[in-house]
Amino acid sequence: MKEKMLLSLLVTVLVCCVQLTDPMTILAYNPAPENGDVFEQGLQEKDKRNISVEDFPELEGGPENPERVAPTPIDMTILQERYPDTFILRGPANQNRIALTFDDGPDPRFTDEVLNVLNQYNVPGTFFFMGSRAIAYPEIVERTNIEGHVIGNHTYFHPNLVKEADIPTLEREVTRTEDVLFDIIGYRTSLFRPPYGFLYNELVEKLGEMQYLIIGWSVDSLDWQEDPPAVIAANVLDNVHPGAIILMHDGADWDGDRTNTIEALHQIIPTLQEQGYEFVTVPELLTIPFAK
Ligand SMILES: [Zn+2]
Repeated sequence: MKEKMLLSLLVTVLVCCVQLTDPMTILAYNPAPENGDVFEQGLQEKDKRNISVEDFPELEGGPENPERVAPTPIDMTILQERYPDTFILRGPANQNRIALTFDDGPDPRFTDEVLNVLNQYNVPGTFFFMGSRAIAYPEIVERTNIEGHVIGNHTYFHPNLVKEADIPTLEREVTRTEDVLFDIIGYRTSLFRPPYGFLYNELVEKLGEMQYLIIGWSVDSLDWQEDPPAVIAANVLDNVHPGAIILMHDGADWDGDRTNTIEALHQIIPTLQEQGYEFVTVPELLTIPFAK
């Protein structure tokens, strides 16, 4: 009897394991650690900065850190090979042109300072904004546009699109953001960057149908780890190449801080300019229109 019970328990456990080991589930399902404490810290931070936390749209799929520990559900390189006309990771290697890209803004704590640094060195950037933050801080979006930077779509709430795993979610997130940005900047951006770089075949195909070019990256500053500025700078300077698309963040969660990103830019930009690199926007790098 006891053996029988043990056997049935074993079978149950095995069945559960099989269900959990669906490859997509394992890769996409990256249980974020309980970060209630972190959120509490965020609330305290908020008090210091005197901005209402209810007004600040959070990253719905979670902060960069826990999500990014897991591997990309389908590696960006594989998706790029499968969909070379839709999924871009880098520009042409035969010119010394590179593009700085910034995700998760507009952020009232950091985006203005990033723009100030870019202005200081007369360098354009490409900003992948979230719809929920754009509608909350339209003046930052407007400033970004007026100062000659290009704006791309980074979804409305920053969900993990692979975990959400359905086309309607993607369509809603992208269209809503496109409409919000259009109302502020007056064009429909042709650029999309998926939160965490997470996509799979059907989502790439849908974005292609929606006339988007998906922009990944070839150099990751890993700035979301909030290492010292010299480390962030080295992550870029040691890996840069002609045609590089460089990933950085002007936005963060409430407990996140992009001060080191801003400091690192003061090292990255002049160093690369001295090396003969020219900074351009992503559409300039790829010679494509920035609007649909
Ligand atoms: Zn993001």
